[in-house]
Amino acid sequence: MTNTATDTVDAAKAAATAKETLSFQTEVKQLLQLMIHSLYSNKEIFLRELISNASDAADKLRFESVTQPALLGEDADLKVRVTVDREARTLTIADNGIGMSREDVIANIGTIARSGTREFFKSLTGDQAKDAHLIGQFGVGFYSAFIVADRVTLITRRAGLAANEAVRWESDGAGEFTLEAVEKPTRGTEVTLHLKSGDDDFLDDWRVKSVIRKYSDHIQIPVLMKGDGEAATEEAVNRASALWTRPRNDISADQYEEFYKHVAHDWESPLTWVHAKVEGKQEYTQLLYIPGRAPFDLFDRDRKHGVKLYVRRVFIMEDAEQLLPRYLRFVKGVVDSNDLPLNVSREILQESRDVDTIRAGCTKKALGMLEELAQSDNAANKEKFATFWKHFGRVFKEGIAEDTANRDRIAKLCRFVSTASEGDAQDTGFADYIARMKPGQDKLYYVTADTLAAARNSPHLEVFKKKGVEVLLLAEPVDEWWLGMLEEFEGKKLASVAKGDLDLGALADESEKKAQDAISDELKPLIEKMQTALGERVKAVRVTHRLTESPACLVVDENELSGNLERLLKAAGQKVDRAAPTLEINPDHPLVRRLESEIKGDSEDARFADWALVLFDQALLAEGGQLDDPAGFVKRLNSLILSSR
Ligand code: ADP
Ligand code: MG
Repeated sequence: MTNTATDTVDAAKAAATAKETLSFQTEVKQLLQLMIHSLYSNKEIFLRELISNASDAADKLRFESVTQPALLGEDADLKVRVTVDREARTLTIADNGIGMSREDVIANIGTIARSGTREFFKSLTGDQAKDAHLIGQFGVGFYSAFIVADRVTLITRRAGLAANEAVRWESDGAGEFTLEAVEKPTRGTEVTLHLKSGDDDFLDDWRVKSVIRKYSDHIQIPVLMKGDGEAATEEAVNRASALWTRPRNDISADQYEEFYKHVAHDWESPLTWVHAKVEGKQEYTQLLYIPGRAPFDLFDRDRKHGVKLYVRRVFIMEDAEQLLPRYLRFVKGVVDSNDLPLNVSREILQESRDVDTIRAGCTKKALGMLEELAQSDNAANKEKFATFWKHFGRVFKEGIAEDTANRDRIAKLCRFVSTASEGDAQDTGFADYIARMKPGQDKLYYVTADTLAAARNSPHLEVFKKKGVEVLLLAEPVDEWWLGMLEEFEGKKLASVAKGDLDLGALADESEKKAQDAISDELKPLIEKMQTALGERVKAVRVTHRLTESPACLVVDENELSGNLERLLKAAGQKVDRAAPTLEINPDHPLVRRLESEIKGDSEDARFADWALVLFDQALLAEGGQLDDPAGFVKRLNSLILSSR
């Protein structure tokens, strides 16, 4: 795909003036078809998308003109003009913003090189109803014009370019578009929609105005339309003041939501938001949102993130990643600073102390709004928190490792699957767990594994099941990371069920301990012989009290890498030197008993070694590990099965 796109750009440069016909990228074609068919029931949103683009174009121009005032020139009042032509059956949205050069046009509306596009197409099912929902999530911006238009003409001139360097783009949305050099006396972009025959209602001024008021009231620049009556002058249809500068009780929930869709380029409503003006060392306004779902590339730690930065209402940059820590990369919105210089760059942001203050403030507010949802008794809010966790929990958990200053607050918001959860629901917080702890229990127990099923069925859980002690089931790669950083929660230590010399503290009873010691003595000869047979593979062999059903399991020391983490690191291409694990055997299991009878019966050493190895390999398999020599395992197992008849 990339190749075709580059070729197209080159070709376009070569024939920069002639009219030429180019093909949309395959994905654009698919997207257009899908959109035209699936967004039919919510047609009017095309207007919001086009006005949103005009507003972005004004923002970009105002930003560039900070260093190049000539770009703004005489024409300094940035605005959008919407015109209806009943005779020609057209609706035109014109702005005097940044405009586009020929290359810009090809890059921005001839291809869709947006992140997540490939994931989006992979997630399509072919089922129209489901895909219609997906497209709403993906967002299609400019192309939404084709919901109501069977032909779209865009004429644009980049600020700073001459009148004869303007471009005319036109398409019927089927698969091709034409490009042609034209004259345009003013800078900016003019999008003309040739309305489909059924869409006459968008030729009605009153209807168009009401759509603009509904979706675009918050847009910072005026959206002008001709007033009523023949000779009437133009008037602004929207309020044309930046939403975040208005007092909170002056803004309706709908307006907050529409503004979110504009800043976040999202088509769905956010879960919640916080709007605050901060005064003090740094003066700034923040309007932060939690989206209702994850973007397609959320899990990429390098994805663009952050909120839009404004300085005294002038747009400065998109994705100002310095304003929020990475684990909050799903938060969207606006920060408008009163103190930063207008010419602030990403580099300056990186070093600025002032920005640290703003970041700390934004982080606190973001955590605060999540806490509000989490602690609410209101069912709708609880539902929202669950949605937040489902979409963003995996990313949010990175915060435990990353943000030492807020570690406790973050940990408190985290939710996990536990052995007490309903099915696979991530519904258990540390506080819930503590509230359910057994008398005498002083640790928070967890197991990590590759999958939830592996965690749930881990042999290490057997003793906990027997004693009715809850265990957190952690099966996401990020879990190993933060577990390495969080030692305790509210004074209670976190303990892996697969690590160390399982000390159940007051949960274990004295008589059990005595019985175990006796069995250990009894099995000493077996243990020694197994140790010899397994050699380097194990650090030690010992009798366990973890198991009730399985014959054996592997255990690592408190400070060693868990088997799960070792596998993760290996999968990530890292070299790991892991100390050999300890093999714990279940003295009550018939296989272990059988092995013991083997030594008493004086069997051959080779056969004994086979038994020992099979036990070891089984334990490794049960915790999700991979055998060094799977074929050898199968051979040994088969020979034991045959000989045991
Ligand atoms: P998005 O706004 O999410 O980037 P769109 O499909 O709405 O996606 O627009 C694609 C791109 O086309 C924009 O990012 C912008 O670069 C360019 N564009 C669209 N409309 C305009 C306009 N009125 N003025 C300048 N550039 C525009
Ligand atoms: Mg857009």
